[in-house]
Parts: sequence; C-alpha cells; structure tokens
Amino acid sequence: MGSISDLPAMKTNPKFIFFTDFDGTITLQDSNDYMTDNIGYGQQKRRQGNIDTLHGKITFRNSFKEMMDSVSKPYPECIQYLVDNIKLDPGFAEFFNWSLENNIPVVVLSSGMEPIIKALLAALVGPNSTKMQVIGNDVGPRPGKTIDQEGGWQIVFHDESDFGHDKSLTLRPYAQLPAEVRPTMFYAGDGVSDISAAKETDLLFAKRGHDLVSYCVKDDIPFTLFEDWTTILAKTKEIVEGKTTVKAAALAGSEAYKSSLHSHSL
Ligand SMILES: [Mg+2]
Repeated sequence: MGSISDLPAMKTNPKFIFFTDFDGTITLQDSNDYMTDNIGYGQQKRRQGNIDTLHGKITFRNSFKEMMDSVSKPYPECIQYLVDNIKLDPGFAEFFNWSLENNIPVVVLSSGMEPIIKALLAALVGPNSTKMQVIGNDVGPRPGKTIDQEGGWQIVFHDESDFGHDKSLTLRPYAQLPAEVRPTMFYAGDGVSDISAAKETDLLFAKRGHDLVSYCVKDDIPFTLFEDWTTILAKTKEIVEGKTTVKAAALAGSEAYKSSLHSHSL
C-alpha cells in the first residue's frame, strides 16, 4: 500500500483515471437485482431487503448475501442467464474507446462478483474490455461442492466492511498520492454503495433518478447528473481538453441540478 507500483492504474502515468460502478451505471439493469428477482427469491423480498438496509435494520453486506444465497442455479448458468439479458448503456462503448485513445484508465469498482462482471464486459464491450481493471467481490464453492453444481456457490466478500466491498478503501491510495503524480479522479455511480467512493474523488457523475442523487443532495456532495454515458463523455472531454476544470464542472453540475428542481417547481 501507498506506493505507485502497487496501483495498476498508475502504470502508464495517467493524468486522469475514471473509476466507475458497474451495475446500473455501465449497464442498464442491475445484474444482481435481475438475478434475485428472476431466479432467486423474487422482487418483493429483494425490495424489502433494500428498505431494511436503508432503515439500518440490516447491513448492505448481509442483505446482499441473502439475495445471493437465494439463487441456487449453478454459477456458469447464472453467468449465461445474465449475458443473455443484461444490456449495456448506449454511450459506454464510445466512451471506453475514447478513454483507451487518451490514456485514461477505466477502473470498475463493484459490489457484484468479478467473474460475472468480466463475462458481461467481454460480451457487451468485446475483447478490449480486459484492459479495464475490475475490483469487486468474488465467488467460491460451498463446503463439499463446486460452483458448477446446483446450490454450489456463495459470494466471497472483498473486505470486512458492512458494504462487503468498501469502495473508498480502494480509492484512497490513489487519492493520497503526492500532488505531482496524483491523477484527476472521476467517478460514476447510481447507488448507495457509491456514496463512500464519491467522497474520495474529484468529480462525481450520479445517474438521474437513482438513490445516489438523493444522498448527494442530503450530504451536500457536489455532483453532475448523467442520463447515459454520452453526457459523461462530453463533460470528461471538456476537462481533458482544458476547456473547463473539475472544480468548475462540479460546481456547474450542482447548480444545474438545483435550478432544474427550481424550474420544475414553478
Ligand atoms: Mg450500481
């Protein structure tokens, strides 16, 4: 920890790094919700779990484990089911190609499981997707079983936190690099698990109509709304090309949101 050589995204000495959530941010649907609702214990129980988490009755980690435990299909079948059903945000592929051309590493930080995310990225983005670093939770066999068997797999969490994967822990070593090498850090997300990440980065994109927006408003965290990745690409380009600064963009984003609320209330 603490040295540049431990940070894979620093290998090419980038001036910018784009960190992003996966489910519901790069994809249109949340793959874990999708799996739980359709081949697990169903939407009703899942939503109750979400509400209990919001009210602090259960940790995100435990609620998420219950969701995953309700899915008993062999793991390879789960992956195939998601590959067949989950769709990519319409602007992401173009954004990703641009990031590759401009030495802007894209690092995926997720509460989902890495094997599922990598399979979805390979199917949706193509072979270049291996150039994205993916940091999430993992999967492992249940005692006496293999993950290829019915009821054979379980989620293996990234760390000991109540989130299962505390994204701020992964971001902090980058945020704490000496000023002369520290890249500008972007982050895009949509949900509760993104709030800890938001505080470690320089410019936050929050998806319109999702929980992260309400959290940012409540905690007074500056953010820029996005509908899809075409907005993110346009804003990020302006900053990379020096047409605006992250500080100005963050301020403008928050002001734009406030004035849009105002105009709606008129
Ligand atoms: Mg998400």
